[in-house]
Amino acid sequence: MSTDVPETNELTPKQRMAIDRAAMREQDAAARSRNFKEVNLGLAEEVAVLEARRCLQCKNRQCVEGCPVRVSIPEFIARVAERDFAGAAEILKATNALPGVCGRVCPQEVQCEALCVRGLKGAPVAIGYLERFVADWALAHAEELPAPKIPAPTGRKVAIVGSGPGGLTAAGELARLGHDVTVFEALHAPGGVLRYGIPEFRLPKRIVDAEVAALESLGVKIECNVIVGKTITMEEIRRGFDACFIANGAGLPVFLKVPGENLNGVYSANEFLTRVNLMGAYLDEPGRTPVIRGRQVVVVGGGNTAMDAVRTARRLGAERAMIYYRRTEAEMPARVEEIKHAKEEGVEFHLLEAPLEILGNGDGWVGAARMQKMALGEPDASGRRRPVPIPGAEETVDCDVVVVAVGVRANPLLTATCPDLKLNKWGYIEADEQGQTSIPGVFAGGDIVRGGATVILAMGDGKQAAAAIHAFLAEGKSMRA
Ligand code: FAD
Ligand code: SF4
Repeated sequence: MSTDVPETNELTPKQRMAIDRAAMREQDAAARSRNFKEVNLGLAEEVAVLEARRCLQCKNRQCVEGCPVRVSIPEFIARVAERDFAGAAEILKATNALPGVCGRVCPQEVQCEALCVRGLKGAPVAIGYLERFVADWALAHAEELPAPKIPAPTGRKVAIVGSGPGGLTAAGELARLGHDVTVFEALHAPGGVLRYGIPEFRLPKRIVDAEVAALESLGVKIECNVIVGKTITMEEIRRGFDACFIANGAGLPVFLKVPGENLNGVYSANEFLTRVNLMGAYLDEPGRTPVIRGRQVVVVGGGNTAMDAVRTARRLGAERAMIYYRRTEAEMPARVEEIKHAKEEGVEFHLLEAPLEILGNGDGWVGAARMQKMALGEPDASGRRRPVPIPGAEETVDCDVVVVAVGVRANPLLTATCPDLKLNKWGYIEADEQGQTSIPGVFAGGDIVRGGATVILAMGDGKQAAAAIHAFLAEGKSMRA
């Protein structure tokens, strides 16, 4: 096995197979558990080139099949292997509007890397690390890259509701086709979950800012502080634009429905993370939105949101930051890397336990939580083994903050004001594979169609819908008609 970069990229498959997978550099666990700086530090140039040379440049490109936006993976990796980073960036950006984001938060281990042929014999190519390397290189060398080509304006106007990854991707695709795109965003800054949900230590805001700025340079207009359904109506949008893409996410939190949930110190993960990430509650500056800095924090849930909340609580100073999850680690939906990082940072994992009640301290604040111990039973509809309470097996844990991260639902604010938009029984918008809804010219995608999913699936929907909107407009149609 070798870790030296060969002089040349002219390597036999055997030589490529002999190179070890690159390791991600990380901030020291003890130090990072007390700061909000990024945990992963990226690959050094030589390491990235070596990693790229592990790629076998397969003819059947299995990795691309695993990517919902069909990034040209072997092609961009080939450029990295040749040290042509500008060429790699150009290829990457042509298929992915948010490469710096995806290189950091995509679950590559179950997508492109899961299908990588090299994974059949050893470790797959570190596609995510390479994507991040190229995106960061492009950010640092912006002046060396050609300015984006913008076609002549078509004169057709498209409205996008929501500036999360779904909305931003659709906006970029449509602007590149010459359409006049306006994104309406309810919050005061664009990015959706990328900004208000995923913390700085996983996805720095400067990356979101840079990728949003790149879309604005294509002509995309973003109007923040506009709640569609309140500030403006869907009717107004339907009168003022030729087509519309709704990607307003699924931001309504689900609660536990156990006694004590109204005590002071109980947060939904959505509120907790928004206070910290979007409102800067961790910055310690006067006048900022406050957040309670618990000493003993219980986070209920096992997904990425739960991991982000518990690691945030730890960074805010919690002596005990505890995950309570009703199944085992094998069933946790969170990314493997997030679970590993949380453990390294001192987060306690209490598995097969679920809250029965949140107990007050006698003063209206959280004092403890009573937990039910569980065992795994038969598989449920999701295919995961169902947690079953063990009669009489309980424990009480002292805590001063409880964060509930057990899922999200569709927010009815927009849909309630648009009665001809067909919804399913859970309140999500019904849309076909192209994103077409029950209203001609109105498309939808991302979490508001799928339920809480992933960044890249929302981006894939944005891309599909943009192509369908372009076809709709090319036929001379308009939702105004
Ligand atoms: P969102 O990102 O939710 O964006 C929707 C936007 O629409 C928001 O900005 C919202 O303010 C705006 N909006 C809502 N209603 C209106 C309205 N009426 N008018 C105007 N604007 C409106 N996925 C991963 O792939 N990897 C991860 O590591 C990961 N971590 C996550 C961590 C957390 C804490 C959370 C909550 C989710 C995470 N996810 C992760 C899931 C992923 O972020 C989402 O699936 C994705 O962001 C969905 O994108 P979207 O564009 O559909 O919606
Ligand atoms: Fe390279 Fe793996 Fe894709 Fe093959 S499957 S082209 S080895 S990244």
